[in-house]
Amino acid sequence: MRRFRRLITAIVLLVSVYSQAQVQPCIDVRADRKNNAAGQGVYDFNNKWTPGTTLKVSFMNGNDWQKEKVKQYALQWSRYANVKFEFMAQGPGDIRVSFDKQGSYSYIGTDAKNRKAAEETMNLGWIVEDKTEAQLKSVILHEFGHTLGLLHEHMNPMSNIKWNKDVVYAWYMQYQGWDKEMVDRQVFDRYSVTMTNKSYDPKSIMHYPIPANFTTDGYKVGENYDLSENDKKLITELYPFNKIASEENRTTRWSKLQDFTIEYNATENGQLGMRIKQDFIIYNAQNSKCILAVYFYNADDGKALLDKNGIQASADGKVAAYTTFTPAYQNAQYDKLTLFVPYDELELGSGNFRLKCYVALFDPGLKLITSSGYQYFTFSQGISSKEVKLSVKFDETMRQIAIEPVFTVENAKGLNCHAVAYFYDEKGVPLKDNNNLYTTRDGTVSSTVDFKPGYNVALFNNSQADFKIYLPYKELHLPKGFYKLQYKVVLFDDKWNKIVSSPLYSFTFNQD
Ligand SMILES: [Zn+2]
Repeated sequence: MRRFRRLITAIVLLVSVYSQAQVQPCIDVRADRKNNAAGQGVYDFNNKWTPGTTLKVSFMNGNDWQKEKVKQYALQWSRYANVKFEFMAQGPGDIRVSFDKQGSYSYIGTDAKNRKAAEETMNLGWIVEDKTEAQLKSVILHEFGHTLGLLHEHMNPMSNIKWNKDVVYAWYMQYQGWDKEMVDRQVFDRYSVTMTNKSYDPKSIMHYPIPANFTTDGYKVGENYDLSENDKKLITELYPFNKIASEENRTTRWSKLQDFTIEYNATENGQLGMRIKQDFIIYNAQNSKCILAVYFYNADDGKALLDKNGIQASADGKVAAYTTFTPAYQNAQYDKLTLFVPYDELELGSGNFRLKCYVALFDPGLKLITSSGYQYFTFSQGISSKEVKLSVKFDETMRQIAIEPVFTVENAKGLNCHAVAYFYDEKGVPLKDNNNLYTTRDGTVSSTVDFKPGYNVALFNNSQADFKIYLPYKELHLPKGFYKLQYKVVLFDDKWNKIVSSPLYSFTFNQD
């Protein structure tokens, strides 16, 4: 009993510390981070529930007031996501909420399935009466965001938050009892760029508050109490509602689309690809040969993937796949009608792509019966990197330029890769080398550094064990004077195939 009371005291203390400092470090309990994504914000595509799912939510303890708060606010997500929450009087549900553990946390998306039925998948330690209504709403929305697969927005690689690391370490160590590694993992770590759509949303409900003294430039993020516009947009992209065919396109046949799933890395006839599986009910189509088709688009520019080889194409030359089916009854239920799409038929080169697809049903006269919302996914082929950002520093002591490249490289774990910096004058003409020290084969000035990614998705952001590319001032081979110069960095794989190039950046240089 005494131990129990001490625990309660500890929780209350913790809670009051959080509200004072306005930091609520909800712990990310994901086992590992996978590489797949879409939409705005950060999320784990592979941990997503099937759109249209009803998640059963049970409570493992808690009073009526706490349970009512959860019901009241969790349902907000269902307005924007094609996912329903059904609150059970008795468990165990798919989502099991406890209130009696320390802190607030949730398993990410379908990771909840890996928990034993007797274990909670979410703890809401901060649903206590001395919180404001806005704070209660904030924490419930945030944890249910995790339940839908969303991740921490402050760990978005595009956030570019300049952490004052010593202050942040000290704060979490003192008030949270975290060690350095835990702070790294929960605060400083960055997700893969491919788990975002390259934009960062400081208004997201999934963002930790950041007091100004946590950053070196005074950047701060207040407590977010509501779903941001981007949160709403993202969750709709992840859990799309089915579109209804417009009035004139409706036939007497109609269909209700249900679960839509994609199975990646499936093999058929020796080809690697994906299986698209669609559940649906179709009405008034007995003995009619209907078509289920899927269409593919680039999610960044919205353009259809174009077919070049005449295989797996629609009549107008887009990448598509279809199968036919003939319902045996007036009202027929189809479970997982499956389409196989070989990756080769996406006809994408090496690289990392954000794609989206939708399915459509047609009657025998090719009249549209219905179509689905978009499903987003990423597709990587070969070693890839999306972009390289650069900054340059002048090391006056060593009399050299230090370039710091920031990038994520994928599928290059353990390979000896190369980063080469090239230097140009104001007009873009390569600077000429004359002593063969820092040079390319064609005799222009360059500097090369080798690097070996430690992970399949490896981030180099010059805050960790990263590298710089150095060039001694004298190796620019410039006479005394003031120059406007340009440079870029190109990454190469172990066989010197180009992975990605940065744009040209400019800098000024004084040769004295
Ligand atoms: Zn969280």
